[in-house]
Amino acid sequence: MADRRARRIAALAAALDQVHLDALLLTSLANVRYLTGFSGTSALVLVSGREVHLVTDSRYATQAAEEVGSVARISVQTQSLWTGLWQQLAAMPPVRVVGFESLHLLHRDFQRLLESGDRWQWRPTVELVETLRERKDADEVAAIRRAGAMATEALGRLLPQVRPGLTELQIAGLLEQALRDAGSEGFPFPTIVASGPRSALPHARSSARPVAAGELLLLDFGAQADGYCSDITRTVVVGRAGEREREVHDLVRTAQERATAGVRAGMRGRDADALARDYIEQRGYGDRFQHSLGHGLGLEVHEAPRLSRQADAALPRGAVVTIEPGVYEPGWGGVRIEDDVHLGADGPEVLTHFTRELLELA
Ligand code: ZN
Ligand code: ZN
Repeated sequence: MADRRARRIAALAAALDQVHLDALLLTSLANVRYLTGFSGTSALVLVSGREVHLVTDSRYATQAAEEVGSVARISVQTQSLWTGLWQQLAAMPPVRVVGFESLHLLHRDFQRLLESGDRWQWRPTVELVETLRERKDADEVAAIRRAGAMATEALGRLLPQVRPGLTELQIAGLLEQALRDAGSEGFPFPTIVASGPRSALPHARSSARPVAAGELLLLDFGAQADGYCSDITRTVVVGRAGEREREVHDLVRTAQERATAGVRAGMRGRDADALARDYIEQRGYGDRFQHSLGHGLGLEVHEAPRLSRQADAALPRGAVVTIEPGVYEPGWGGVRIEDDVHLGADGPEVLTHFTRELLELA
């Protein structure tokens, strides 16, 4: 574990060298966790070519020592983290040009940098650590696989309990209970349960609407293991499916299976997206699939790389991505099927195993 973090820090130090930065100030908690192992919610981290400093507050003194170990020097502040930061920076004499994470710094804190005087030059950076995070190591893939197994186990426990008359929120509660029972540390995002016409909302919030017999029920949810997320969607029918539900489900399933089998490291994100989109378009439903095919998955539920019509970048080897085409008919309903896939050297490996057949809940 410490080895892995040391490798990540060395890779970041090399990246800093390339962009001529003496050090980088990290304010993204996911990036802090990736590099140091610290999972608390209060931290500033400074990384230079030679050293790593983590500043946290007194609530986390014990936890930081346990999680970070010798990977970083820890300073515990009783008042402001920034007091500790200035002390650490002042003790790093060769450091002059310091990057900050422009996607993760509050404007209030940016003002602090401006007010720190002319001792340091502050430079915005974009996704230096996020780029490293795209390629998962074996332990990260194993954690996502565990989170995927928790999610599919929970779904298996939930479905026999679903019956007409339960509200979406009640079903979400049962599913979240099952996720906890399966060992999930938390929920990467609020569980989506959308029934009937509400399943046509690609990012619905679960509501107080009761589900009726014969309706579509879309479930999009995830589990967390060692901080890593899974993200899975299945669409079922409560009772018997009609012809239209079958047809749309079959179409989405075929598109999803094509993309899951065809996606490869090295392929551009847009070409991966086309694996599913071209088929949906051929079948005449192109205008009913508006969102992108998928996203990277890791310590955060949405991270690089992107699989969309606009994504020109190649998918890195080692990335874990979601494959989640959907077809949505406003006023009627929608079907989405989502799995998590590791883009390994030997081709795609699906990490979430649950039937993609259309389930009719008796
Ligand atoms: Zn999802
Ligand atoms: Zn997703």
